Order: sequence, then C-alpha cells, then structure tokens
Amino acid sequence: MEIFYTRKALGEYLQKIRERKLSVGLVPTMGALHQGHLSLIKRARETSDVVVCSIFVNPTQFNDKRDLENYPRPIDSDIKMLESTDCEVLFIPAVEEMYVPGEEWHIDLGGLEHLLEGRIRPGHYQGVTQIVKKLLDATNPDQAFFGQKDYQQFLIISLMVKKLNIPVQLVLCPIVREPSGLAMSSRNVHLSELEKRQALALFQSLTKFKEGFEMNDIELLRNTIVQDLNNSEGIKLEYFEIADAETLHAVDNKDAKHIIALSAAKVGKIRIIDNMIIK
Ligand code: AMP
Repeated sequence: MEIFYTRKALGEYLQKIRERKLSVGLVPTMGALHQGHLSLIKRARETSDVVVCSIFVNPTQFNDKRDLENYPRPIDSDIKMLESTDCEVLFIPAVEEMYVPGEEWHIDLGGLEHLLEGRIRPGHYQGVTQIVKKLLDATNPDQAFFGQKDYQQFLIISLMVKKLNIPVQLVLCPIVREPSGLAMSSRNVHLSELEKRQALALFQSLTKFKEGFEMNDIELLRNTIVQDLNNSEGIKLEYFEIADAETLHAVDNKDAKHIIALSAAKVGKIRIIDNMIIK
C-alpha cells in the first residue's frame, strides 16, 4: 500500500494511474477503522481499479471541541488493517496540509443542512462539505463511497456534487452492525459493555418501527417508541424521526415513495446515530 501525506504527491501518483486508464475509487474516513469502513473499501474494489482511502479527522466538522480532542486516532493499527485489504493508496494529510489558517467556506445546502443532525450539530455539514470537496479535488475519483450510517451526510454530499457539477459517482453502502445489531462506529470504543447494551435500544426501536410500519399509524407508533426510548436506561434521546428518504422532511403518512427512520441519542458521554430504510 502506498501512503501519501501531501495532496501533491497523491495527485502525481494518481495522474500516472489515470494515464494507464485505470479508474479510481475514494473512501473518505476519519480513521479508527472498523468493519464498516472495510466494507466500503471492499465495495469500492468491486467497481474501481484503484482504491484510495483517506484518513483525516476533520476539525471543521466538529462543533464540540472535546469530541474532536477525544476522537480515537489509532493510526498504526489503521494502517495494519488497511494492509490486509485491497486498498492500494492511503492518504493521511495533516491539518496544515488541508487548511490554511482562517480559511472560509460556505455552500448553500438548503433546508437539509438544518434538519436532524444539522439541528443538533450546527455548522457540521458546512465542515463536512468543505473537507469532502477538498478530498474530491485532491483525488479526482471516478467513484466515492459513503455509508448509509451517515445517511443525511450522503444526501448533503449528493447535493453538493450536483450543485458544483463535480464529475463523480457517489455510492451508498449498507450499515455494518455488530452481531448484537449495534451499528459499528469509531466512537463505540468509548462505550463500556453496559453502555453498548444500552445503546442497542436505538437499533431495537428502529426494528420495532419497521416491523410495525404496515399495521400502524406512523405518528402513534413513533410516539410509543419515543416514549419507550425516553424511559430507556442510559439513553438520552435526541431524535427519533420518520422522514421522506429524499428530503428528510418528517412524514406522517405512508404516501412517500421512500421512507427512512433516523435516530440519535447520547449514551453516557457518547453520541450515537442509527437509521433504517422503512420503505
Ligand atoms: P467516519 O470515519 O465515521 O467518518 O466514516 C467514514 C465512512 O464510513 C462514512 O461514509 C460512514 O458513513 C461510513 N461508515 C461508518 N460506520 C459505518 C458502518 N457501521 N457501516 C457502514 N459504513 C459506515
């Protein structure tokens, strides 16, 4: 696996790849890799000749300084993990490589930016689009791969790619879960065994909603589940919403073509998110 620390070195290497008419797939991550990330790399390998994984803990998307400081950064084990996959290129830039001090960025993302995650984490999606644009510029990939785990992020990046006319195909990959059902996440390393069991309430609630969807009124079922989550030991619920999967606007009837349930909560000090396609 080739490792690059600068955009210039990465660009020169990928230029040669392109001259050989090989396609490039990008998998952007913040590291602390787990099977969810590896599934993206595996998926990328199916349709791209060369897979580039980036590891960059992007400061501009964190609105909580403590969360940024505590974000796990096990770079040596990440490299080992990647070496066991089909990833050909790893890009690990330093913050100074990606940003000049005082740099500004803003893109109009419409209402999508302020819903759900955006409401709880103001500015988060400006930071996400800022770094993803830079990574797309540095890599110029044919395809870029993202997890359904961050479903709203995928919609936001799709919107940016459309608005800025970026010639890349975005691919959404399914959520990888622990055998228990808990969605894998880099932040899970901070959960105790008890908290991991408590965190399962999110997955169980999404499953309960999906199973009850056909037979029940959306709002009644959602209210029962919200009540259960509010009474659930160790869970501080932030939202449990049923939304149109294209706009993320809340739905209270079953007419929308695609419906998704999304939830976020704090378990102890750790924030977890999960979602499930309902229809
Ligand atoms: P992160 O390192 O958390 O920024 O995630 C990098 C990419 O991996 C994003 O596209 C995530 O949606 C995706 N990802 C994170 N966790 C999972 C998971 N459990 N299953 C599938 N994809 C995931």
